[in-house]
Amino acid sequence: MAQWLDLGGETYRLTLEPLRLNVGLVVGSERALVVDTGEGPRQARQILEAVREKTELPLVVVNTHAHYDHYFGNAVFAAAGVEEFWAHENAASTIASSADPARPEVAEREPEMAAGEGEGTEIVVPQAIVRDQPVLVDLGGRTATLFYLGRGHTDGDLLVGTPSALFSGDLVEDGYPEFSDAYPEEWADVLRHISALRHRYEHLVPGHGALCTDVAVRTMAETMSTAVRSARQATRESPNDATKAIPILPYGPEQSRLFIGRLKAASSLH
Ligand SMILES: [Zn+2]
Repeated sequence: MAQWLDLGGETYRLTLEPLRLNVGLVVGSERALVVDTGEGPRQARQILEAVREKTELPLVVVNTHAHYDHYFGNAVFAAAGVEEFWAHENAASTIASSADPARPEVAEREPEMAAGEGEGTEIVVPQAIVRDQPVLVDLGGRTATLFYLGRGHTDGDLLVGTPSALFSGDLVEDGYPEFSDAYPEEWADVLRHISALRHRYEHLVPGHGALCTDVAVRTMAETMSTAVRSARQATRESPNDATKAIPILPYGPEQSRLFIGRLKAASSLH
């Protein structure tokens, strides 16, 4: 039996190794919504099997953002009859344009996906699009709200709100934030926004790992804002060597390097 965590209001969370990916399930009277599909067909079949222990209803899928571990399982769900795949418009266009280069990431655990050979390995691009306005997905007697709060972990992070829980994708992380496609300054604002919404939701489910408290979200926002200020100051003091800021940042060396790179890229666009 799959280890679903019951969050109340027919909303569930399943955590999958090795990345501790959190998959969500919201069950209505007519259909059920699955939040994120895993990193390839092997993991997606595991998710689908777990979903089928809970419900036989038709399914709708949401991809919280365009990182492989959140959408590489889509084809397995498409083969199971899912027609409605939701994503933010920026995530959908990233999936359409740059999914294939991400395949080598899963070479060890999902060799078929990495090779693009075999059942369930094609890229399924979401066609149900969320832009700036929230979208209510009616599941029958229960709705899920899909909404966008601006750029953060990527340029297309979608949040999924149910009567009992908020699924944040990787906007909230249990551990160091992952900056490879991030907009650090805007991300801190999005985190403050999430914190301001917390009274509406009993549970906050991050993209990976344990459920998060509101204190953790605010700490993540403050840490990020402080890091932005420190990095900017260090860059002003030694404009030719941004790596000087790495030891003073509150993240590990690799995260700090990505953070500085993304901060520079964002500010050079202004
Ligand atoms: Zn991510």
